[in-house]
Amino acid sequence: MIIYGSRKIRIKKHDDFQIKCENCGGYEHRFYVYQEYFHVFFIPIFPSGIKTIKSACLKCSYLFNQEKKNHYLSITRTPVYFYTGIILLAGLVFAGVIGNLITQREKSEFVNDPMINDVYLIRDDDNDSKTYYFLKIKNINSDTVELIHSAYQYNEFVSNMHDSDYFVKDKVNKVLKSDLKDYLDDGTINSVERDYEKTSRFMIEK
Ligand SMILES: [Zn+2]
Repeated sequence: MIIYGSRKIRIKKHDDFQIKCENCGGYEHRFYVYQEYFHVFFIPIFPSGIKTIKSACLKCSYLFNQEKKNHYLSITRTPVYFYTGIILLAGLVFAGVIGNLITQREKSEFVNDPMINDVYLIRDDDNDSKTYYFLKIKNINSDTVELIHSAYQYNEFVSNMHDSDYFVKDKVNKVLKSDLKDYLDDGTINSVERDYEKTSRFMIEK
């Protein structure tokens, strides 16, 4: 269950010793400013509602001075933590965008400079159905790259091989290095794995 709603809290207290109480003649006045925020699990997401203010004479509790109230209301800013949720969300989106840019750049660098054991996730768009499979670089001879194919094909995006999948080592496809760049540009190469774990399924060839 998600707990959410609005909470009204005091965000500021101002003491003023300049104005005279109309009731008792004292010079001690206190102003309280309140504001609401919308929360999810008590984490402020964004401010909701307007700021409100209360004032009282500390001697006689007399409530007054609309002018001063307006003044203190106008100088009290909404605390930044009221925006916690929005700030967190923006941070996540930003991190996601940066992470994606880094991944895209790395992918491009890997394809432009292929290395033995690089693994490509290939997306095959055929007759409205998408098929995915893995290719692994077995060998590189000047302009030519030798690739071996995963035993399985997948009908949805995967980031890892199935537990019983492997690379078929005696079926080698040769492509030009320049072809790899075309495959990247047209989206055929979906992702590139390099320096994966030695325990990875990508290591297994039969
Ligand atoms: Zn008073």
